[in-house]
This record gives sequence, structure tokens and C-alpha cells, in this order.
Amino acid sequence: MRYHVMPLSEMARKVSQGQSLPEHAVALNFDDGYASNYELALPVLKEFGLPATIFLSTGFLDEGRPLWFHEADLAMTCQGASTRRLVRALRRLKTLPEEQMRAEVAGLVSEAGGLGELPEVLRPLTWQQAREMRAGGLVEFGGHTHTHPILSRCTVERQREEIVKCRDRMEAELGRRPRLFGIPNGYPADFDKTTLAELAAAGFEHAFTMTPGRVKASCHPLKIPRYGAPVSVWETEATASGAFELVRVWKAKGGPG
Ligand SMILES: [Zn+2]
Repeated sequence: MRYHVMPLSEMARKVSQGQSLPEHAVALNFDDGYASNYELALPVLKEFGLPATIFLSTGFLDEGRPLWFHEADLAMTCQGASTRRLVRALRRLKTLPEEQMRAEVAGLVSEAGGLGELPEVLRPLTWQQAREMRAGGLVEFGGHTHTHPILSRCTVERQREEIVKCRDRMEAELGRRPRLFGIPNGYPADFDKTTLAELAAAGFEHAFTMTPGRVKASCHPLKIPRYGAPVSVWETEATASGAFELVRVWKAKGGPG
């Protein structure tokens, strides 16, 4: 099947205005702002002329320190934790009030005696790389908070600070205010009414969750679903073609019988 790959901003705008999308429309997007977006993805995007969106955690680019969940992961891995223990610990950390979560992550890092050098795959983009990508015309950028907290675990003030600081840092470095936002972690428990109100107040027009689903006119503009990264060509095809969606709808209707 052939897909029509379009910029996420155009897809969101068209859908919000009630316009129809081209058949088999797909929008590519990446979260956090890793250097690999520039080093590995950009050459492929250029080769095939594919537009994409990158949601930036601005503090990650500013400081070059791992995001908190990578810190927890690295610290626990240093200490020999099993994958199962790691997954459980991360799941729990995401449910804690923001300050408690940060304190626990700092505790894990200090127990591990520091994190050493940041692994290659976890390096952030530099702002210069981001500017170069934007200037190339294929890549657009959206916000993803400043330090990637789980927004629903933050106070109102902290949510506002994370959203506004991200917007302002992007405007300062990239010369324009972002209008798109990727909600960190993005599942229903990870954001709340305050998140949506603060996003709207900060001028974000469209925000994207991690609830899997297809973009439709009935979507709330600040709760637009996305599919997570497929792990194989087969899964990509099943996701983009709508095969997974058919199964989901079928199950929701009661499945067989
Ligand atoms: Zn993220």
C-alpha cells in the first residue's frame, strides 16, 4: 500500500477544520529530541522527502543530561537490576508526586555512584542541529515540556512552568512559537484538565497523547491519539493500514458473538 506522509501540523489543522485527509494519510513524529533524529532519521527523511515532527523536551537539549527515566534506568542497570524490576520501578515512579519522584531518582543515581558518560543513543540533539533541520524544511518541532515530568503528578504551578518554559526556550532557539505539543508519556492518567487548560493558555493548538487511535474530526484538538513506534515492518503495515484498528473496533463491539 502507498501512504501519503504529511506534516503533523497540516494533518491536525485539516482535521480540526473538518477537511478530509488524503487517502492513507500518515504523519511521522518523534519524542524527546535525541541526536539520533538528526544522525539516523534525517538522512532517511531526506532521501524519501518525508516530513516529520520532533517533540522537544527543551531541558534535555539545554543541559545534555539524561531524562529522569533514563537516569533511573541507567542507575538501576548499573546496580544489576533485572528488566522486570526496572519496568516495575519505572511504572511506579510515574505514579508518584513530581517532587517525590525526582527525589527517588536522585537517590537511585547516588546509590549507583553517578551515571558516568551518557550512552551514545541517549544523547540529545543540539539546538544547532534542530535549527538546521528546521531550515531544511522537512522537520517541524513541537513542545514536550522542559524536563519531561508526568504532568498529572505536578502542581498547577509546576505544570504551567514546564509548558511555558518549553515554549519560550523553543521560541528563543528556533525563532518561532511551537503550536504542537506531545504530552509526556501520554496515557490518560498522565495529564488532566489543568494540562489542557495550561496548554491552551500557552498557545498550543494541538496536543498528542499516546492513546492509540486514528485522527478524526471528532478528536479533541488537545487529545489527539497516536500510535507508538512499531517494532517491525509487519507491525507498521498493520498499524498504518488500519488492520489493528479494525480488530480494536470489533473487540469493542463485543468481538465474536
Ligand atoms: Zn517523551
